[in-house]
Amino acid sequence: MNRLEGRVAVITGAASGIGLATARRFAEEGALVVGVDLNTEAIETLAKEVDGDAITCDVTDEAAVEAMFQRVVDTHGSVDIAFNNAGISPPEDDSILETGIEAWETVQRVNLTSVYLCCKHVLPHMRRQGKGSIVNTASFVAVMGAATSQISYSASKGGVLAMSRELGVQFAREGIRVNALCPGPVNTPLLRELFAADPERAERRLVHVPMGRFAEAEEIAAATAFLASDDASFITASTFLVDGGISGA
Ligand code: NAD
Repeated sequence: MNRLEGRVAVITGAASGIGLATARRFAEEGALVVGVDLNTEAIETLAKEVDGDAITCDVTDEAAVEAMFQRVVDTHGSVDIAFNNAGISPPEDDSILETGIEAWETVQRVNLTSVYLCCKHVLPHMRRQGKGSIVNTASFVAVMGAATSQISYSASKGGVLAMSRELGVQFAREGIRVNALCPGPVNTPLLRELFAADPERAERRLVHVPMGRFAEAEEIAAATAFLASDDASFITASTFLVDGGISGA
């Protein structure tokens, strides 16, 4: 499939997991991929592999985010797709009774403020172009309680979902689509680290997945490529669940 031929796609969190798999998928579908991450070595390796570009950028830093999108446009001529995907999972117990304000604020900054900043600084370019597709990574925990105790994480993802809907509606008549991707649990380093610290958590989580397994990152990448492409031309402001049936159960 060459659905993304000629498109310039920025992917944040491209060094690992969902972002990495999506970078490979977008490139397979013809996009020029710009991988963005804190992990310079990994995104430079990726850029070589997919014949794309790599920009080291902390997505919580407004000046860096603004400069990153400007550099993409200056170098490649446009920015057609923004997959705002970088995120973290709180390492320690994140129940409301345990979480300190600092840990809470770190999660909001990396998971939610970063998406705000990326949308804020890519939208002027997309507006000028009169087209664009933004996919923001939320999570199934944005739409349902998952009893995972991850209060700061769930709240941050709820914010990503609400912001994506709002922007999708606001920019619908300008040829810019904005969607929230809501994956269920995905077999990535982020999830593996979480479960290594608390192995029983994996079992508890798995019970709630009707398909009886976690997703592979490539399955999320396939859904993201669809959302980013013109095959999804009438889809905006959506809550796009890719969760093995969790939310339907
Ligand atoms: P991952 O840890 O494998 O990858 C996340 C990447 O984001 C890393 O390469 C990391 O370096 C990068 N990153 C973190 N902070 C950054 C910053 N400030 N600036 C730039 N890059 C930064 O995680 P993943 O599982 O692939 O998760 C990707 C996204 O999907 C996250 O937003 C996560 O919350 C979300 N998500 C994951 C799951 C899951 O089960 N894995 C489920 C639902 C949603």
